[in-house]
Amino acid sequence: MKTIIEPFRIKSVEPIRMTTRAEREAKLKAANYNLFALKSQDVIIDLLTDSGTGAMSAEQWAAVMRGDESYAGSPSYDRFREGVQALMPFKHIIPTHQGRAAEAILMSIFGGKGKHIPSNTHFDTTRGNIEASGAEASDLVIAEGKDSTSLHPFKGNMDLEKLESYLETHGDSVPIVMITITNNAGGGQPVSLENLRAVSELAKKHGKPFIIDGCRFAENAWFIKQREEGQQARSIRDIVRDCFTIADGMTMSAKKDAFGNIGGWIAFNDDSVAEQARVRLIQTEGFPTYGGLAGRDLEALAQGLQEITDEDYLRYRIRTNEYIIERLDALGIPVVKPAGGHAVFVDAKRWLPHIDPLHFPAHTVACRLYEIGGIRSCEIGSVMFGRQPDGTEKPAAMELVRLAFPRRTYTQSHADYLVEVFEMLKAEKDSLKGFKITKEPNLMRHFTCEFAPLAG
Ligand SMILES: *Cc1c(COP(=O)(O)O)cnc(C)c1O
Repeated sequence: MKTIIEPFRIKSVEPIRMTTRAEREAKLKAANYNLFALKSQDVIIDLLTDSGTGAMSAEQWAAVMRGDESYAGSPSYDRFREGVQALMPFKHIIPTHQGRAAEAILMSIFGGKGKHIPSNTHFDTTRGNIEASGAEASDLVIAEGKDSTSLHPFKGNMDLEKLESYLETHGDSVPIVMITITNNAGGGQPVSLENLRAVSELAKKHGKPFIIDGCRFAENAWFIKQREEGQQARSIRDIVRDCFTIADGMTMSAKKDAFGNIGGWIAFNDDSVAEQARVRLIQTEGFPTYGGLAGRDLEALAQGLQEITDEDYLRYRIRTNEYIIERLDALGIPVVKPAGGHAVFVDAKRWLPHIDPLHFPAHTVACRLYEIGGIRSCEIGSVMFGRQPDGTEKPAAMELVRLAFPRRTYTQSHADYLVEVFEMLKAEKDSLKGFKITKEPNLMRHFTCEFAPLAG
């Protein structure tokens, strides 16, 4: 069959409240043009993030009822641990309430002043936890990973030469080597199995534990199966196991590829590292058989891990992005190619060259997408990265609009609607003027800052 359908039918629905353009313009103005300040009932299609926003299956909801809420020794923990170990055969599996809690624990063990921690690209909370510990975070993705026009099949790969010289230069001050699959901050681009193996070997050669941030492991394995030589006949679960058996540990946000609305974990093989992690966990999250979660959450994740590696699901998931990218491309709208795993990225610097990066072209596109069609997206550009520690402004490397897709939540007609909104925006885009920031905190400003449109 040529047509790829959503491989599910709908048992329980959440109504979408339709609004008019005039209503949305008023809502956005009242929110001081910050999309994070909108109420979700005022959004028609919410593509702000794929984190924790997916739909749970009937089996997951059934598992929720089986949750055992015992403080210690809950069988729900055993099912969770077995679900993780079936894919990621680490000896110690420690639940946390989210990915960032796992990162905070990891950095309490390996971080600290004077340390250097490399990755392909650290996700922003990972970087935040590294820097909060006093260590330095370095991004060593291949050059193609930063070029929105490169068609390299594994744009998330680590630059192995850079990693080798980094390990030689920084020597003992490197406590661990990390890698993020898929590379979220780099557009959801995958890392090849070959690259993972090479990074693992380099880490081993230099005596460093190799830790995978595995948030989108199933999407990454799908790309390996599609694009890497010799992987086509293998099952997703076998590919996933290959990725993790060569690592010494992992961090995970179960709000991504575990179909959870909340959850995470940290895992290690080393007994003494795991013991340090558990001590920290008890201080900050909870007892080691529940972490920061309820027994019912652990059950939902154990079931989610069964479902996330389903090939029909992954085919539909990745095809959604490809489909939207093909259609936007046909409209002449610059998009990051090839399609990543969890989101479509529009290159607003190339699309709206008349708007200065410090007048936020990607934010301008995001605001107009909301006004025209009630679509909420996320700016990844100079609003997010432009403010420097000394308070000055510097344009970000790229001005991207991210349309992140909640898992199993929207259908093809939602995608067609999105394309139509872009088509309408195309007709208006040359008249757009950009924004200025009128009020901002001094850190992580994109969540709470206020904007005013620049007058034409
Ligand atoms: C979401 C995410 C995290 C952080 O996880 P939370 O559950 O949001 O705390 C870490 N790394 C990557 C790659 C992510 O996408």
